Amino acid sequence: MPPKEAYDWLRAHHVETSLLESMASLLHWDQSTMMPAGGHRHRSDQFAALAKLVHERRSNPQVGEALAACGGHWDEREPTGVQAANVREWKRAFDRVTKIPTDLAVALARAASDGETAWKRTRPENDWEGFRPYLDELIRLRREEAEAVGYAGEPYDALLDEYEAGETTAALEPMFQDLRSEITDLLGRIKGSARRPDPSILDNDYPIAAQKAFCRQVAETLGYDFSAGRIDATAHPFSTRIGPGDVRITTRYNERNLSEALFGVIHEAGHAMYSQGLSTEHFGTPSGASVSLGVHESQSRLWENLVGHSAGFWRHFLPLAREFFPCLRGVGEIDFLFAVNEVNPSLIRVEADEVTYNLHVMLRFELELALLRGQLNTADLPGAWNEKMHEFLGISPPDFALGVMQDVHWSAGLIGYFPTYSLGNLYAAQLFEAASSELGETDALFEQGDFSPLLDWLRVNIHAWGSRLPPRELVRQATGREPDSGALVRGLNKKYGELYGV
Ligand code: ZN
Repeated sequence: MPPKEAYDWLRAHHVETSLLESMASLLHWDQSTMMPAGGHRHRSDQFAALAKLVHERRSNPQVGEALAACGGHWDEREPTGVQAANVREWKRAFDRVTKIPTDLAVALARAASDGETAWKRTRPENDWEGFRPYLDELIRLRREEAEAVGYAGEPYDALLDEYEAGETTAALEPMFQDLRSEITDLLGRIKGSARRPDPSILDNDYPIAAQKAFCRQVAETLGYDFSAGRIDATAHPFSTRIGPGDVRITTRYNERNLSEALFGVIHEAGHAMYSQGLSTEHFGTPSGASVSLGVHESQSRLWENLVGHSAGFWRHFLPLAREFFPCLRGVGEIDFLFAVNEVNPSLIRVEADEVTYNLHVMLRFELELALLRGQLNTADLPGAWNEKMHEFLGISPPDFALGVMQDVHWSAGLIGYFPTYSLGNLYAAQLFEAASSELGETDALFEQGDFSPLLDWLRVNIHAWGSRLPPRELVRQATGREPDSGALVRGLNKKYGELYGV
């Protein structure tokens, strides 16, 4: 087959596979927002049928033949072009999927499903020993997967690579160590400060209908396109790209707390604006797909933290918030900003503030590494968790449910996933710093309610690229610097230095 013909076949094949996957996304959205409980069993059958089709298509030997026929044809012509990137990424995905024996893939899927079910049952009972055998099995299988896939450095790299292409333990460890020592230092100064915010000023009545209207207006002003999206309520907020022109977000509402829904919406809108900025023309190919979990998270965290928690943002939105929520009329701007930016070491990662959040991620990263390296076994995992919690944050969980069992990830075998949360924060800070140096004083823009220059910058430098460049290269190209922890550390020191006077 000539290269051009092989490429066209691959493109059509992958677009159709992506259409099937987008059907699963729609089913998943429906399951989380609309589906009656009685539909559960049938929905599982639907997912299984689609997953089987998708797996067959992704591992189809014809894909391998067509990739071989493409050879280096596109690389020689235009190494950084759309076709070259698509072939490179199709090959990467095909290599991974075909290196994992079918038996192992089936065993992993079953162990993940069993593990999650077991976690849901054992966590409320604080039953670590009841959960542990499931985790042991998942670690065993994922080690097997790492050996099957192969790695240059160590087994953990093979797992990491699934979520963040090209990322390695050797690159992450020094980056995270720098970050940890800087954050620990900042946290120490904050703890020693006499200044304290008063978060009780936020605890008040926020009618759900008003929250919905306010959140919608905020998302729209930031640039989330409602003609290609919608917001619904769910227990666990998420964003999902059904396809071009249809990127949905969900949130949850708490009548006593505005932050939960609002910052959740801003976070998910950040993910969704990335998805809305992906190329429609290249849908179904890597050039029209998001590049990695870390880059995806950089988009959500940039809007949530660097925009949504900034002084300029609240200078614009607090007067509007006071119209929606009379309880905020007596709350001053400086007190409000300090309260929403309170730093307080806490047990639960997903509730952590901007300063301590990365310490939660690094704790999991270090434990996962030790588990994969065989330096730690699950019998000693809760003890190791508590020790690190004490070392990093100075607090200790009262039980397993609020400690080692708090996140769903390990129960589904998602090992190597957590580092992408911190990479997201590092990338967000570096991108924001680069955008700010081009756009001028961002706080002044935000104060005017003008968020489009920032969104446009992200569209051009990140969104439009899809997966044409590997994650680190994309960030390097957008910012002109090798990714590191510098921008995040500078940003945190400046912001919290001012707030806490340290
Ligand atoms: Zn996210």
